[in-house]
Amino acid sequence: MTSSLLSVTDLNVSFDTPDGVVRAVSDVSFTVSAGETLGIVGESGSGKSVTASSILRLNSSTNATTTGSAVLAGTDMLTCSDAEVRARRGSEVAMVFQDPLSALNPYYTVGRQIGEAYQVHHPDASKAEVRERVMDMLTKVGIPHPEQRVDEYPHQFSGGMRQRIVIAIALVNSPKLLIADEPTTALDVTVQAQILDLMLSLQAENKMAIILITHDLGVVAEVAQNVLVMYGGRIVERASVDALFDAPTHPYAWGLLGAVGSLDHNKRGELRTVIGTPPSLITLPPGCSFAPRCEYAHSVGSVCTTTVPMLRNIGHLGSFSACHMSDEQIIQIGSKVRA
Ligand code: SF4
Repeated sequence: MTSSLLSVTDLNVSFDTPDGVVRAVSDVSFTVSAGETLGIVGESGSGKSVTASSILRLNSSTNATTTGSAVLAGTDMLTCSDAEVRARRGSEVAMVFQDPLSALNPYYTVGRQIGEAYQVHHPDASKAEVRERVMDMLTKVGIPHPEQRVDEYPHQFSGGMRQRIVIAIALVNSPKLLIADEPTTALDVTVQAQILDLMLSLQAENKMAIILITHDLGVVAEVAQNVLVMYGGRIVERASVDALFDAPTHPYAWGLLGAVGSLDHNKRGELRTVIGTPPSLITLPPGCSFAPRCEYAHSVGSVCTTTVPMLRNIGHLGSFSACHMSDEQIIQIGSKVRA
């Protein structure tokens, strides 16, 4: 059995706000292996970004309460010391965000920014070594004429080139895990494909794992092996990408997939809008948080509005679903959704 690079167990994250307690993430557990790409999909406010940023302990503001564990290469990122977290950020886990411009310092050259990220974990590297590593990264991420562009500023680059530089900064210390939060959302479609290809080719070099947060099921189909579907701060379906597209097992996933079509790696599909609005994370409904939008809740009965459904294995494809419907019903309806 291959051991997991990352193991998240019973993660709960809440924020105390003047309006009440925001239950951003509830009872989330999953694993990621070396070389694996895990997609996390869901509407905004579903908990996907908070889940990911917890792994880097970026939610440690005074109003946040985090419980559970997130063990990365043997270290629990939620309970280790601040110094240990800092030592692991960049060298073991790095994050790329949606907006490359806000991730870069406009006053420093891109070469300086990549070099400084490298020096955090290589304080004894000589100037020449740092320069060599910077040029190597610029070449790896496909910046043309790196010897000239290394001394330019972020505003002198296009959006796609800036995201390549952000990826260079994230990967300069060869992390074992890259967390990419909507890394291509701000880019046009052609550039999106180039950035995804770049991430996959860099991943292949050192068996890096990737957690890809996206609202785009087409991107998940293209690059991920496994996927978590999140709703109301919980995982409602956990499956391989093939299983999710061939036989989805949760009514929310059925809604999302309705307009995407078959698993075609050339197709891109935005999540379909499911009728209704996501629940407030301050006043989550009792029972299944999807119940107010679920067309099957009436037929299943009051359990949907009284008891939170736990993830359970459904069918023979290894999928897990958090729904009170019987296995038979789920398999029957799920197969029709994809028919
Ligand atoms: Fe719908 Fe009930 Fe299943 Fe929730 S538990 S998804 S309300 S059928």
